[in-house]
Amino acid sequence: MELIDGKALSASVKLQLKERVAALETEYGRKPCLAVIIVGENPASQSYVRGKIKACAFVGMDSRLIELPESVSQEDLLAKIAELNADDAVDGLLVQLPLPKHIDEDAVIDAISVEKDVDGFHPGNVAALWLGKPCMVPCTPKGVMMMIESTGVPVAGKKAVVIGRSNIVGKPVAKLLLDANATVTIAHSRTADLPAVCREADILVVAIGRPKFVAADMVKPGAVVIDVGINRQADGTLCGDVDFDAVAPLTSHITPVPGGVGPMTITVLMSNTVDCFIRRMNKQ
Ligand code: NDP
Repeated sequence: MELIDGKALSASVKLQLKERVAALETEYGRKPCLAVIIVGENPASQSYVRGKIKACAFVGMDSRLIELPESVSQEDLLAKIAELNADDAVDGLLVQLPLPKHIDEDAVIDAISVEKDVDGFHPGNVAALWLGKPCMVPCTPKGVMMMIESTGVPVAGKKAVVIGRSNIVGKPVAKLLLDANATVTIAHSRTADLPAVCREADILVVAIGRPKFVAADMVKPGAVVIDVGINRQADGTLCGDVDFDAVAPLTSHITPVPGGVGPMTITVLMSNTVDCFIRRMNKQ
């Protein structure tokens, strides 16, 4: 079994990005800039956002953090998004999810300019992804693919099973695996005999949000297992959706939690922001 070290992979990609950002600044006279809007004081969201701002500083990009109160109206949030859409100094824009219940998440995602949609959640980017057109690919799914690529295990022709069908992880991961010529099954809470379905997988991607859900009897010996889940346990520590201790010895490669997909997600966000910057600069 080999560990897919998300921290190490992410550190090496960030170093490459740092050089690229410095070269872009010389070429275009300014750095790429990511704007992050956070609403309210959800501790997990605050920690993710801090990680994103820190990563911008590390790769040498500018960032703007816009903190809005939990009580902010949808109208005021949309007005802030419109302002940042129109701001030429901002290349990438994201609104940290989840949002308070009184705000319509879809309306917020729709309001972000497709060109600045570094999360790849805007319907324009989602449609382009499924149509196989150039688009902003969502960060976690792209990070998952980079981690699979890092194993050197060829994806073409392999059976891949993705557990989870959310718009932000499961569905886009499945599409990227399909693009890489895997034969893809998307499993979910209504899948019959989930263990048998999972045992077919040469590549198993798990994104369900249930601590240590995937047990040893759900994994084909020699499979590549990518654990997207982040769950906080009663003792305050984090664990994934895979029972790592039981499953890891069976696998050819597996991601740990923490230190797996999480760090890659933020690194891909940096890379998506650089891509938005380059596209915008080349349009002017
Ligand atoms: P969602 O809650 O949106 O989706 C969960 C999916 O899992 C659903 O499709 C659901 O099926 C499926 N599911 C739930 N329970 C079961 C079950 N018992 N058997 C089979 N399928 C099940 O979650 P997300 O996709 O947003 O996130 C998934 C996990 O990934 C979470 O732990 C989250 O914290 C983590 N995450 C990690 C990121 C990272 O950077 N590492 C980024 C984003 C998320 P159904 O559709 O039938 O309800």
